[in-house]
Amino acid sequence: MDEVKEPEVKEPEVKEPEVKEPEEKCYHCNKKLKMIHFICRCNHKFCIIHQNPHNHNCYYDYKTNWQNKLKIENPQTIHQKLVKI
Ligand SMILES: [Zn+2]
Ligand SMILES: [Zn+2]
Repeated sequence: MDEVKEPEVKEPEVKEPEVKEPEEKCYHCNKKLKMIHFICRCNHKFCIIHQNPHNHNCYYDYKTNWQNKLKIENPQTIHQKLVKI
């Protein structure tokens, strides 16, 4: 008697899709950020090396901000009327 071999049916390997969590990366050097990261005023995250705005060509206009701050802190002399109660 001839034995009839059933054809081997290989189940296709089902790979679970890897769910990758969004990695925190330095916006400037793409280095992975683990525990420590810095969010600059330009709303990007940076590593400890590039946290300084000067180190990542920050587009946040510090100069303008600084000038505005000066204006606020040192307003031009305004003749204030003294109001006597
Ligand atoms: Zn970096
Ligand atoms: Zn920045």
